Order: sequence, then C-alpha cells, then structure tokens
Amino acid sequence: MLPSDYAAQDCLLARALETVGERWTLLIVRDAFFGVRRFSDFLSHLDIPKAVLSERLKGLVRDGVMQRRPDPKRPGREIYELTQAGRDLWPAIYALRTWGARYRAPDGPRRAFTHFACQTELEDDGSCPACGITPEAHDVVMSLRPNAPQLRYDPISVALLEPHRLLEPLGRQPQVLTPAEQPPGAE
Ligand SMILES: [Zn+2]
Repeated sequence: MLPSDYAAQDCLLARALETVGERWTLLIVRDAFFGVRRFSDFLSHLDIPKAVLSERLKGLVRDGVMQRRPDPKRPGREIYELTQAGRDLWPAIYALRTWGARYRAPDGPRRAFTHFACQTELEDDGSCPACGITPEAHDVVMSLRPNAPQLRYDPISVALLEPHRLLEPLGRQPQVLTPAEQPPGAE
C-alpha cells in the first residue's frame, strides 16, 4: 500500500507539501491573502464541502500556517488569519499564479497585482519594476482588469470587484445577490 503522505521523502519540497499539498489548501491560503477570515466566507467563496474546509483549516492551524482567534465583531465566532509562516507563502502563491497565467489562461489573467506604493504592475517574479524591490503581500494591491468577466456573485467575489490591498480584512458585507438578481448566464 502506498503511504498517504510524503514522510519517507527526504526532500524539503515534500515536507512543504505535507502542509500545503492537499487539495484546496493553497486556495484557502490564497483567500486568506485576499482578506477572507471567516469560515462562512471561505465556504461561500470556494464552494468547498464544509467538512473539507473544516479539516483543512484545522491542519493549517496545526501546522502553524494560520491562527484562529475570536472574531472581534461576532461574539462566539472565530476568524482565521495567516501567521508569519503563512504570509511567507506569498512568493510561492504568486509564482503559481504566474505559471497559471502563462499556461492556463488563454484569455489572459483576470486580475492585476500592483505595488501599493507606486501603483506599478508587478513583474512575473513579483518584483516592482519601478522600485526595484519585491514588495511583501501587504504592499500589493489586487484589482480586476478592465473588461474582466465577473464569474461569481458570492459576497467575497463582489467585494473583490474593487481594488483590494492584500491581507486587509474584507470588511464590507455587500448585499448577497439572489439568483433572481444575478445577470443572465451567471451561475
Ligand atoms: Zn513600486
């Protein structure tokens, strides 16, 4: 029987994949960079089975990538935030996004990532060509490109229609569109 993990692999990549290699895990981390912090928001933005989300968040907390703390705005509830180890995954996430844009986006990428300080779009390696530095995630602004199609209508997707600085909590709670309010063809 094949082992279910990479424990026997003497490789640092395999060790990293022990934490972030499971399905959904990197998308949860990506959403945390987008500013998602609540279980219900991860759930609606990712369309992930509840039990899987719960399991993945538990694993990310156990492995020190995310931390859980009381939600200051909703007593009795909790929020999830990236730890320093989690924020250090930004270059890996950005590199995978660049690869996806190059090989898996026939219509071009929908989102642009710019340096907060100078509003210049980042290079494929995450560096700012104007400043000559590679900004950390909290100094990166994500925005939809003009004419990019809106693919989803959950509250997080709606909030992300506007430029958003990474790691800033998505504070607004936009009105949720009912199916009747969604444009034709929307899922
Ligand atoms: Zn810059």
